[in-house]
Amino acid sequence: MSEIIKTEAVVLSKLNYGDTSSIVTLYTESDGKISAIVKGGRSSKSKTGRIIDPINYLQIIIYKKNTRDVQILTDANLISHFVNLKEDLNSAKYSFAIIELVKNLTVEHEVNQKLFKGLIKILNLINDKKENPAVLFGRFFLFFLSELGYELSTDKCSVCGNKLTARKTLGFDFNTGILCSDCFESHSGVEVISAELFDLIFCLKTNRLVEEFKVELMDKFVFLMEQYLKFHITGFKGIQSFRIYK
Ligand SMILES: [Zn+2]
Repeated sequence: MSEIIKTEAVVLSKLNYGDTSSIVTLYTESDGKISAIVKGGRSSKSKTGRIIDPINYLQIIIYKKNTRDVQILTDANLISHFVNLKEDLNSAKYSFAIIELVKNLTVEHEVNQKLFKGLIKILNLINDKKENPAVLFGRFFLFFLSELGYELSTDKCSVCGNKLTARKTLGFDFNTGILCSDCFESHSGVEVISAELFDLIFCLKTNRLVEEFKVELMDKFVFLMEQYLKFHITGFKGIQSFRIYK
């Protein structure tokens, strides 16, 4: 069966294909993650070719055949290219990390409109400089974990289910998540979560204002989340965009 689909999409990556074409990975509203070929997309005369760059938000037309792994992108119009975001190195770094997470950890053709909306929203917020891009990235990361089915609870201990309180030292287990102080004391090989770090994770998760922003704290948060994902997803090697921008 073949059909013509008009939908919105964010470009996750682009590769050269043959002498004149490109293959793009897109996160679409209607079909989740898909790959598509843009024939003649590398020609300077191609309108579509000029706008299919990573992070760009497009309206696209796809000629789709279920039997094909790579679909054909027949037309595209630019909705936003998030110009402020790309001009600022720090914003670009966190935005590319978001794009990378969506590209590497979503399943092809798995439709998730909540994730699509969340992706557009976070890119707009970074572009509009509403908050520090690291904080916005952290909020997206926790939302994304929930969408993947690995929600991190900031409410209950991941082992015994008791209510978590920041007044005592908490722990982090790469398998289960955050531990209460009692479970932290009775488990070995667990990372420490300081009251300050727990407060940050809690604010990110519950959309509360992050009062004081400390780079080291955010780095520790990202490290823990990467370890948590590595534990659950075979083949996940951490976020490469952070290494590129270092
Ligand atoms: Zn516990």
